[in-house]
Amino acid sequence: MTYKIGIIRGDGIGPEIIEQAIICLNKISFKYGLTFSYIELIMGGVAYDKTGNPLPQETIKAALKCDAILLGAVGGPKWDNLKGVLRPEAALLGIRKALGLYANLRPALLYKALENACPLKESIIGSGIDLVVVRELTGGIYFGEKRLYKTKDGEEAYDTEKYNESEIKRIAKVAFDLARARRFKVTNIDKANVLESSRLWRKVVHNVHKDYADVTLCDMFVDNAAMQLVRDPGQFDVILTSNMFGDILSDEAAMITGSIGILPSASMGKTAPFLYEPIHGSAPDIANQNIANPIATILSAAMMLRNSFKEENAAKAIENAVNTVLLKGYRTADIGNQNIVSTSKMGELISSFI
Ligand code: NAD
Repeated sequence: MTYKIGIIRGDGIGPEIIEQAIICLNKISFKYGLTFSYIELIMGGVAYDKTGNPLPQETIKAALKCDAILLGAVGGPKWDNLKGVLRPEAALLGIRKALGLYANLRPALLYKALENACPLKESIIGSGIDLVVVRELTGGIYFGEKRLYKTKDGEEAYDTEKYNESEIKRIAKVAFDLARARRFKVTNIDKANVLESSRLWRKVVHNVHKDYADVTLCDMFVDNAAMQLVRDPGQFDVILTSNMFGDILSDEAAMITGSIGILPSASMGKTAPFLYEPIHGSAPDIANQNIANPIATILSAAMMLRNSFKEENAAKAIENAVNTVLLKGYRTADIGNQNIVSTSKMGELISSFI
């Protein structure tokens, strides 16, 4: 069986970090007898420069024929003055929409070897941090009706938070299914004490929960959740939440694990291909210097093996290799000040421990 992987290198550090993920996938291919074929797709600033469009139709067409997509990052100062759909970042929303990716999974795991990089006190991280934020990705206030208009007292604007039952149902199922593969706990985060949309959200989540009696469900208001994440992060297993709350809370969860350079993500829909990418951006400030941390991208490839290809052993092999390299003390500059290695050396080390 050949797995067709769409490769979007993108801008800034994108090409450097993707290269390291491919080196690790090639080692997996050799060790586990899997065959990967890589299909190069262009998107972001580099695609704008070539075609005048950051998300060419050919990219979408070719992406839809792949089994999964691995993305580096897009954007940078060179394209910052472009407007609307011409911006590289608009291509991100565009490809999520084109592929119907409604569930964003962002694991936040604190590696033992990186506890020093965690900004929280030792007494707080005693029980470790190992959670996944399941964020709804295609609905809510980012996609609801919005308007900016003039009144006699000056300008006025609004955005609309809107969800329907089926949107909530499908994302809730993702969270409950994921909890079954983890520690059987879902924390539903909303603002049901104030928002009508949150009250519907909570009602539907509880209805879906009836089919998952083996999973513990608790509710938490988003303001309390922001506090609990830094007070006692060990209490969370799977966090289920809406688009905007997930956007904010997943950055907070990322920060408490120490570095933006090590966290992967998966965006999933009803059918393949799903999209895998590091949570960070294109880091133009360190591009082309061979100093970026490739771990988030390499771990995104591991998520792809697990979620899209059901190759659990291969996924674990990558995760274990990352852990080994960190335990041996190797670091890129963003996560340490001793034993610093380059982007390519880090990729080579991880690959050698697979
Ligand atoms: P960023 O995540 O690119 O960088 C923030 C900081 O973290 C920078 O100091 C950077 O050097 C550092 N950093 C990020 N990834 C790193 C890595 N792998 N190793 C070491 N250090 C790393 O965020 P930003 O500076 O706000 O955005 C830069 C560009 O990326 C912008 O054009 C933005 O729109 C774009 N962006 C793209 C995506 C994406 O492609 N998914 C996501 C966020 C931002």
